[in-house]
Amino acid sequence: MAYTYDPENIFAKILTGDIPNKTVLETEHTLAFRDIYPQAPVHVLVIPKGPYVCYDHFAQDASDAEILDFTRTVGEVCKMEGLEADGFRLIANAGVNGVQEVPHLHVHILSGRPLGRMLD
Ligand code: C5P
Repeated sequence: MAYTYDPENIFAKILTGDIPNKTVLETEHTLAFRDIYPQAPVHVLVIPKGPYVCYDHFAQDASDAEILDFTRTVGEVCKMEGLEADGFRLIANAGVNGVQEVPHLHVHILSGRPLGRMLD
């Protein structure tokens, strides 16, 4: 499937600086910032700077450098937030079934409390 990226989405505006964000970490290809409506004591969103709608779009079309940078940034945020001891959850919602609100790939990093089971 060919994805169409909406350059007016909220995260695109965060990347241009039109909408402010609480940055946790910024790298060449990736931005990590705090979710505006945190669902846990730690709730960080990690997004690629490139125009990718969702995870499979990114995995199919992004360069190796973008994918490596994104993956390493997730790891670095986990380290910075001290998540190794008590664990965390990564979520990447996609499309209608995944109930994705913002059509720019983002991985949620959630931690700081027990998160319950998700796959029941
Ligand atoms: O995965 P999903 O698309 O549903 O999540 C979007 C997330 O983006 C929500 O957790 C919402 O709180 C967050 N958000 C944000 N800053 C905005 C708009 C949405 O952190 N300006």
